[in-house]
Amino acid sequence: MKRLYTAGNLPEAYLLLHTLKAAGIEARVFNENAQGGVGELPFTHTYPELWVEDAEYARARTVVEQFEQPGESSAWLRCSRCGEQNPDSFDFCWHCSESLT
Ligand SMILES: [Zn+2]
Repeated sequence: MKRLYTAGNLPEAYLLLHTLKAAGIEARVFNENAQGGVGELPFTHTYPELWVEDAEYARARTVVEQFEQPGESSAWLRCSRCGEQNPDSFDFCWHCSESLT
């Protein structure tokens, strides 16, 4: 597998994960628990990473390039149950599966 993308935060990683899935590409998120730990500040801040199969890498890059295009306003919804931020394109909270609509 190859590392495709390093996201600035977990919702961004999941948004790209869903975007890739919509394009028919299976990706995996690593480091997704790295920012956990209530009341604990990690010494090194680890960002979530998306990895894809080598064979999918080239196609996945084009999805990432579109994903990174600026201009598309992205609003955020806060989950009423767990308080996590979700892109407003999500119907369900990525964290706890609560309906966001
Ligand atoms: Zn939630």
